[in-house]
Amino acid sequence: MILRRRRTRRKNTTKNMGNKRIGWIGLGNMGMPMARNLLRAGFEVTVYNRTAAKAAPLQEAGAKLAASPAALWEVADFLITMVADDAALKQIHDGGFLAGAKAGKMVIDMSTVSPVTSRELAGHLAEKGVEYLDAPVAGSVKPAELGQLVIMAGGRKEAYEAALPIFAKLGKASFLMGGQGAGNAAKLAINTLLAFNMQGLAEAAIFAREKGIRPEAMLEVVAESAVANGVTKMKTANIVEDNYTAAFALKHLAKDLRLALSQGMHTPGGIALHNSYQQALAVGWGEKDISAIFPFLMGEKA
Ligand code: NAP
Repeated sequence: MILRRRRTRRKNTTKNMGNKRIGWIGLGNMGMPMARNLLRAGFEVTVYNRTAAKAAPLQEAGAKLAASPAALWEVADFLITMVADDAALKQIHDGGFLAGAKAGKMVIDMSTVSPVTSRELAGHLAEKGVEYLDAPVAGSVKPAELGQLVIMAGGRKEAYEAALPIFAKLGKASFLMGGQGAGNAAKLAINTLLAFNMQGLAEAAIFAREKGIRPEAMLEVVAESAVANGVTKMKTANIVEDNYTAAFALKHLAKDLRLALSQGMHTPGGIALHNSYQQALAVGWGEKDISAIFPFLMGEKA
């Protein structure tokens, strides 16, 4: 299949900004700053979060609250989900959201889930006359706060173009990767690379340490070298300061590698990464940041 691919930078996309109303589901580490950016950009935003108390700061910032995901159909044109995983997304759809669907609206899922789930949900919604885009993101909490995410979409070209004014406020670039599920596939590919970067940084620091070099000293060298990149720079401080508070929880990266494997990833490094992150998850590092792969590999207790 030849993928249609479209790259759109912020400067080209703001001109279509309308008065579209947004319904937002999921106010976790990523959903909160993303929804806040849409509010700041002037969209009318109504939010739902399973743990309702977490929505309070957004309400103070001007968002309206919905009592259930289904209630959003009444007050929104674009309904955006940013939740933990496939199970969370399916629970939302099966818990009344799908049943209440209203024709002519669009659902955009920005969570990292399986392409299979996206195609399944898209099929159910299509029967009700609702458009569906999968549009997962690359970039963590800081890029989310700055509206600097990279968005990988899957779906119809017309749907993607209708969503561009929203994407322009959430990200610095967006790409249409192909049909429904293609955004998810691209996201699983990029997170495999993320896992390589994180695992590589940790293993380099551990090897150096075993040769008598302090990890801090080694990471300083890495930061100045050609192998440094956004991930190594962002995560070095966690290791140096021994602070693994989650920006991107390890359980989510373990989930993404599991999804990649279930989608047929068969290359040796990917399989090794999957094993490494599943083991870290199994011994209790899931709620910590992905950089906690370093203390895990060092044999520390979670
Ligand atoms: P998070 O902080 O763990 O937040 C998860 C959100 O999902 C919360 O709003 C949570 O509600 C909701 N949720 C979980 N289970 C649910 C259920 N059964 N029903 C309804 N809502 C449910 O996750 P995050 O870091 O924001 O990540 C969200 C998605 O983006 C994930 O798919 C992740 O892989 C992806 N992602 C994350 C990053 C990152 O750096 N963090 C970067 C790119 C992509 P409660 O508040 O009630 O728990």
